[in-house]
Amino acid sequence: MNLTEIIDFLSEITQICNMLNTKKSLAFLMACLLLFVNCNRGAKVIAKEAERPLNIILLIGDGMGLAQISAASFIYGGLTLDQLTDLGFIKTSSANDYITDSAAGATAFSTGEKSYNGAIGVGMDTMPLISILELAEKNGLSSGLISTCSITHATPASFFAHQANREMHQEIAQDFYNKNIDFVASTGKPYFDLNKLIQNGYAIQTGKSSGNMDALKKQFWFYNDSIHPPKANERGAWLNDATRLGIKHLANNKKGFFLMVEGSQIDWGGHDTDFNYTISELRDFDLAIKTAIDFAKKDGHTLVIVTADHETGGLTLDAGTLSPRSIQHHYASAHHSGIMVPIYAFGPGASLFRGTHENTDVFKFMKLLFNFK
Ligand code: MG
Ligand code: ZN
Repeated sequence: MNLTEIIDFLSEITQICNMLNTKKSLAFLMACLLLFVNCNRGAKVIAKEAERPLNIILLIGDGMGLAQISAASFIYGGLTLDQLTDLGFIKTSSANDYITDSAAGATAFSTGEKSYNGAIGVGMDTMPLISILELAEKNGLSSGLISTCSITHATPASFFAHQANREMHQEIAQDFYNKNIDFVASTGKPYFDLNKLIQNGYAIQTGKSSGNMDALKKQFWFYNDSIHPPKANERGAWLNDATRLGIKHLANNKKGFFLMVEGSQIDWGGHDTDFNYTISELRDFDLAIKTAIDFAKKDGHTLVIVTADHETGGLTLDAGTLSPRSIQHHYASAHHSGIMVPIYAFGPGASLFRGTHENTDVFKFMKLLFNFK
C-alpha cells in the first residue's frame, strides 16, 4: 500500500463511518484500524528511508516527453537526467480533457487538483486552490520561481495566481503583489508596475547576467524588457545561472525552500514542430537540472523532482545514424499529446516517485514530504 492509497483509504473509511450509526461505526473503525496497521508497515519503511527534505526543487520541462529526452540524450551524447535512478511515469489528463494544457497541468502539480484546461490555480468552480508555494510561504520557507517565459504564463502563474483563464495576464500579475516570493527570474516586465514591486521589497534587475544580489532583499530578475525571452541559443546559460543564483539566495533560509524551475520553451519547439528548437531547449533545461542535482548532492536535504506537464507534438524518432549522430523524426501534430511523461527524483523522498502516478500526486507527495498540514 503506498502513501496515496493510504490517504484515499482513510478518506473512504471516514465516508463510510458518516453513513453508519455510532455503534456500527465503532466496530467498523476497529476493523479498519487493524487492517491499516498491517498495511501501514510498508509505508513506515518508506517514511524511514525517506527522511524529509528541507528543500524541494521542482523542475518542469514543458512538453518534455520521452521522445524529446531520447533525442536530446542521443544527439548531445547523454544528459544529467540519464544518471537518475528513481523514476516513474505521470498520467497527464486534465479534469475536462484527455489532453491537458499547461495551465491545468501546472495547477495539478501546484494544488493537487485536476481542473479544466486554462485554469490558473483554481478548481472546476473557478475558486482558488492553495498551492504548494503558498503552503511553503505559510510555513516559513522561502520560495522561488524561474521560467524561460513570462512569469504570468500558465506554468509559473499556476504556482502563485488564481485566475479563471490563462489569458488574464494583467490579473495574474496583480496576484503576484499578494505573495511574498523571495526569488524570481523570468520575463513579463510589461505586465508589472516596477514601483509597486520596489515598494513590496524587491530588488529588480534586468539583463542576461545578474549583478550582485542583496541576500536580504527579494529578487526579481527580468531577462529582458519583453514579454518572453528569446530561444536557448540566444539566451546563453541564463536559465542555469538563474537556477544557481536562485538556489544560493533561497538556501539562506534555514527553514528550507520551495523552488520551481521551468524549461518553458521545449513545448514551443513542439508547437513549432521544430526539432532543433525542441532539443536545444531540452539541453538548456538539463543544465539547470545538473545545477539542482549538484546542489542536492552537496546539501543532502534537498529533493529534486524533474517532470513534464505533457508531451508536445507526438514526436516520433523514426530512424537515425550512429556516426555522425543524427535522427530522422516526425511530429504527429503541433499540439499536446496524451502519452504519459516521465518523472525523475533525487534526494530524500525520491523513492516515493517510482511507479505510475497521476499528475496530482506530485503535489500530494511534496506536501507529505514537507509535512505541511
Ligand atoms: Mg509552460
Ligand atoms: Zn503547449
